Amino acid sequence: DFVQTYAAHPVYIPPRGPRLHAKNWPAEAALRMFLNNLSNDVAEKPEELVVYGGIGQAARTPQDARKIVELLLTLEEDESLLIQSGKPVGKIRSHAEAPRVLIANSNLVPRWSTWEHFNQLRERGLMMYGQMTAGSWIYIGTQGILQGTYETFAACGRRHYNGDLRHKLVVSGGLGGMGGAQPLAATMAGATFLGVDIDPERIKKRVETGYLDHISYDYHHAMRLVLAARHKGEAVSIGLVGNIGDVLEKLLEDEIIPDILTDQTSAHDPINGYVPHGLTLEEALALRQSDPQEYKARSLQSMARHVGYMLEMQRRGSCTFDYGNNLREYAQQGGEANAFQIPGFVPEYIRPLFCEGKGPFRWVALSGDPEDIKVTDEALKQLFPENTHMIGWLNEASLKVSFQGLPSRICWLGMGEREKAGLLFNQLVREGKVKAPLVIGRDHLDCGSVASPYRETEGMKDGSDAVSDWPLLNLMANASGGATWISFHHGGGVGMGFSQHAGMVIVADGSERADRCLRRVLHNDPALGIFRHADAGYETAQQNAVKHGLTI
Ligand code: NAD
Repeated sequence: DFVQTYAAHPVYIPPRGPRLHAKNWPAEAALRMFLNNLSNDVAEKPEELVVYGGIGQAARTPQDARKIVELLLTLEEDESLLIQSGKPVGKIRSHAEAPRVLIANSNLVPRWSTWEHFNQLRERGLMMYGQMTAGSWIYIGTQGILQGTYETFAACGRRHYNGDLRHKLVVSGGLGGMGGAQPLAATMAGATFLGVDIDPERIKKRVETGYLDHISYDYHHAMRLVLAARHKGEAVSIGLVGNIGDVLEKLLEDEIIPDILTDQTSAHDPINGYVPHGLTLEEALALRQSDPQEYKARSLQSMARHVGYMLEMQRRGSCTFDYGNNLREYAQQGGEANAFQIPGFVPEYIRPLFCEGKGPFRWVALSGDPEDIKVTDEALKQLFPENTHMIGWLNEASLKVSFQGLPSRICWLGMGEREKAGLLFNQLVREGKVKAPLVIGRDHLDCGSVASPYRETEGMKDGSDAVSDWPLLNLMANASGGATWISFHHGGGVGMGFSQHAGMVIVADGSERADRCLRRVLHNDPALGIFRHADAGYETAQQNAVKHGLTI
């Protein structure tokens, strides 16, 4: 029995199966997803409550984690639990169609929203970093970013290489929680991939979970594998242990120019994320503790050097883009004045999708049974037979993605599609076609939920990049609509001071209440994306508003 086992030995393993442990499915769903985020199969450093993205946590302390579990187990249908930066702080009176959990993570008044101030508060135990889906309990492991990365590489291939990435080399840094999706995304798109990470444990995890083919500890050995695969046109991925800046320097010396170049080191956090060059991992970890200011200075300088090499590769023909980790900003602070000559991936490849209300829709089988995901995959293919792109993706994903933690699926869906999919999933639960309820959510990286001038809202047509009224409206819309839990975060993938964003998760438990909530939330949430882009002057968003009967 979960409750007794957990009381005796509080480890982070979500209960599975059709039995309820909390008092209702919305609370049970939050409980399972919270524990799933922290489980060994999913979190990058469960012992530190770190889920992914540098220091992105799901709870502030182990005591807070225990208290969250206790409160979710007893949460009534007319109560909502409040979470402040990973700590449960109270319950309020609400009602059955209101969110069961209301989460605010890492928010600071703008004047104080710096890493320095945040880190002081964090050291005093007053805050934690929520990243995007870590503190909002809807991280699904590396799969969560897989399709977005695949679509980005494929779009790059269509634009620059006639849609054919065979014999093409993709190079990137960082094979952590999210960056670890790059090797599989690149090989799914047909390319040869070289990823560099300073931490061998991270690379091993990617091999173990089927995201990466080979690990190498030696530059020359890695390059023999990479060049042979590129020559033969083989979609193979190699993870090399090393510092990405140092490896780019060697590649330039050897005149090996990648066809596509990006980066997913945790550059958004110059102290607790990025590892400066000239230090081993152990030395870096020690310096982080002993002299954070010195560490930061070295980090900024290393990022400038790293981006300097990326710019040189770009000059020599690499299709180079920033992949949403704020590397350009910190490189600029470190002295690389031309850092922003590298374009961001959202304006380059993703914004047209946002104008359709499209984004990273995802769902999780609370039963823990992979068969349930198969059932949802098949049901979606029947629901949208005309969407051959989606069907192709689901077929590929079912073959190549191994699940981490509770079985789950990512699939980008747009306005109209999300609502239909949600109602269909609720029907599958009601009719017993799946063995337990399904949880539906998304990344905060979505069409209408983020203000992030160096990422999701970079280069908006009307210059409204930094306006964060939009994610707040998104949050309020999802509270009003009756999402099961909602969240508002600061910092996320680009760091303190650089973004504000909202998350939503909703459970399909087969009930009529769920039908009503799904119909509202999965309509409103993508509609916010269309409103946001239509308002900024994007014509396709304005046309999509008309197509979907939205009132602007
Ligand atoms: P993570 O912290 O789990 O992994 C980062 C990895 O980078 C670690 O394995 C670390 O060892 C490695 N690393 C750090 N400095 C290095 C260096 N100089 N050379 C080589 N390796 C180095 O983070 P993650 O979840 O993989 O996210 C990566 C970055 O991408 C973060 O900045 C995150 O905020 C951002 N992000 C982007 C998106 C997106 O959609 N593009 C989504 C989520 C996160």
